[in-house]
Amino acid sequence: MLSSNHGTRVPGFPDPRESGKDNARYSRQIAFNKIGQKGQEKLSRAKVAIVGMGGLGSVIAMILARAGIGYLRLIDRDVVEPDNLQRQVLFDESDIWAPKAHASKKRLSAINSGIKIDAICGDLNGKNTKKLLSGVDLILDGTDNMETRVIINEFAVKNKIPFIYGAAVRDKGMATLIIPGKTPCLKCIFRRVSGLGMDCGSFGVLPTAAGLIGTVEANEAIKLICGFGKTLQGLLFYLDLSENRFDVLAIKKDRKCGICGICR
Ligand SMILES: [Zn+2]
Repeated sequence: MLSSNHGTRVPGFPDPRESGKDNARYSRQIAFNKIGQKGQEKLSRAKVAIVGMGGLGSVIAMILARAGIGYLRLIDRDVVEPDNLQRQVLFDESDIWAPKAHASKKRLSAINSGIKIDAICGDLNGKNTKKLLSGVDLILDGTDNMETRVIINEFAVKNKIPFIYGAAVRDKGMATLIIPGKTPCLKCIFRRVSGLGMDCGSFGVLPTAAGLIGTVEANEAIKLICGFGKTLQGLLFYLDLSENRFDVLAIKKDRKCGICGICR
């Protein structure tokens, strides 16, 4: 251990607040040949919106802030409640009743002071979507309801912004990457897959399911931004943690989809 008291530094070590200003903190990513210096620069230029700072969004944001995504826009309408602490890794007891967007920004800024973060405490709806989601390269789903996902999906397809969908409930979870004009959109998928409308408040959720799906979403974002690996385009990642099942299922575009279909 470097110190016995939280926040107390051993003399002679560099000021950690300076660590966001160079590449030293990203050396493990830069050393990974599929990211390298070029990939790290792409991450630092990326502008990402995360809608929902709950079980999924807090994991996504924590990973992307640590990875050095240059700009994060955090959107959430709720405050931190006691039952959030079971899985929402950005928050602690001192955050209870604070707006999640603001508590998230405070925690993420302490993790990485070298990135820009905007916190928006508000409800994403059909009237403010353009205002809240314009100007980003990528949107990640941290929501807990299908209504908001449908709004994001429609905006993303219309404005050709990639959208990473994720959902976790009980011991199960799903994720996919939607590339407008190329892959099936969310509406194409949920016509065929049941269970997408289940909510954690009624059915419960394992913290591990939220953590893993949030991690898969962040992983898709890093791969897409850096341009390596096989992403979940046209594929649905599915996990069942009780059964230790991890599957990747092919999904097809619905030609008659009201959002992205060519025959609509
Ligand atoms: Zn569609």
